[in-house]
Amino acid sequence: MTEHASAAKSDLSWLEEDRLHEECGVFGIFNHPDAAALTALGLHALQHRGQEAAGIVSFDGNHFHTERRVGLVGDHFTSRPVIERLKGDMAVGHVRYSTCGDPVLRNVQPLFVDLDSGGFAIGHNGNLTNALTLRESLIKKGAICQSTTDTEVILHLVARSEKQRFVEKFIEALLQVEGAYALVGLTHKKMIGARDPFGIRPLVLGKLGDAWVLASETCALDIIGAEFVREVENGEVVVITREGIESHRFVPKFPARLCIFEYIYFSRPDSIVGGRSVYDVRKEMGRQLAREAPADADVVVPIPDSGVPAAIGYSQESGLPFEYGIIRNHYVGRTFIEPEQRIRQLGVKLKHSANEGQVKGKRIVLIDDSVVRGTTSVKIVQMMRDAGASEVHMRISSPPITHPDFYGIDTPDQDKLLAAHRTLEEMRQFIGADSLAFLSVDGIYRAMGYEGRDDAHPQFTDHCFTGEYPTRLRDREGPPQQKQLSFLAEVG
Ligand code: SF4
Repeated sequence: MTEHASAAKSDLSWLEEDRLHEECGVFGIFNHPDAAALTALGLHALQHRGQEAAGIVSFDGNHFHTERRVGLVGDHFTSRPVIERLKGDMAVGHVRYSTCGDPVLRNVQPLFVDLDSGGFAIGHNGNLTNALTLRESLIKKGAICQSTTDTEVILHLVARSEKQRFVEKFIEALLQVEGAYALVGLTHKKMIGARDPFGIRPLVLGKLGDAWVLASETCALDIIGAEFVREVENGEVVVITREGIESHRFVPKFPARLCIFEYIYFSRPDSIVGGRSVYDVRKEMGRQLAREAPADADVVVPIPDSGVPAAIGYSQESGLPFEYGIIRNHYVGRTFIEPEQRIRQLGVKLKHSANEGQVKGKRIVLIDDSVVRGTTSVKIVQMMRDAGASEVHMRISSPPITHPDFYGIDTPDQDKLLAAHRTLEEMRQFIGADSLAFLSVDGIYRAMGYEGRDDAHPQFTDHCFTGEYPTRLRDREGPPQQKQLSFLAEVG
């Protein structure tokens, strides 16, 4: 879900980690007396996918109930009165991330509307690449938009469909949108889950006794004790009613192309994504990195938390000891927004501190999962030198990010990406490391058990490394090197 608003960005860059950020997580549960409370727990487990706002919509057999708040799930949805207001045995919820400094409640999801057929709530993880184009044409035809999100376009398309059954209306809407979406929806009779034709963003189906559950990741099933049933497939709509579950395909079946960054950074390490343990894949990426880019060093140090599994893998493969040479403070929140300039200059030290005893006088291999702008890397390399490291060899367990995302991930403009216009040596100099190496594109596929990337039919969506966007980017003109393929052309 992406905002098209021009809300001014407050300058949080000093506080934000230099990372790509997932923009949303979704959760839904059908046929459980504690639907709202379990949805709050599920959203809490998905909090890493979005920290700006959260919302839940429930249905009690007669009425829909909506609670949408700016802030963390735990700030609002642990309150008994809030959960008690969310009556009913079915609920859907959403967490969102945004760098927009002025979060607007009307954009917080799930969005809810009254249609001809009754109420409809929807939560979206991903980004539609033709939403502006569709929105413009809908507005010309008289549509009045209530939010500035791309997700609202789906509601308008469903509302305007002349099909008879709700699921047909919904599918007709999906056939008009392009881009990435994992959706959870709720009507007075049904819970609905859907994934885009490539399955770029994840969505899983679970069971808790007689209740069905939908969630962005399996960690949200685990927190409520639900069992994993299966993934919602790419190009599939699942419709859950009191009678059971139906599956509808709206494009021909073809192999999914999940966003590869779910393995590198977005998903929680304890989640199982696409049948693989995220933790195991990250460790394997570290092993592969050690094979591709060994370093003459004394100790392997992760940049916590996300660099830890890859550093364990690197250490195991290289035989170099693993040490926590950097300690992360987990309690830095947005309460630190906009302090004085000289405090801001302390920058990364708010989040990361050197564990001097583990790095002093040592040649260290510093492991991170990815580099976006490189600004955090600069500070951390300097921090290691200040703590007495004699050499700092930086190793990144994913390839250089050269292209921006258009599928629901917060990325800076292409010219702000460290790797977009620099050689490896220029990047090394910028970061200030003694050596620098990235995992190769084939290497990341090898870490997942393939021989390498299948260039003819790539196994994942990986365009931040390759520039190959799997869908059309109708709302924007891409740089000439982007291969803009219609998904239907690719399916065909
Ligand atoms: S650019 Fe593509 S591969 Fe990279 S994070 Fe976005 S969807 Fe994933």
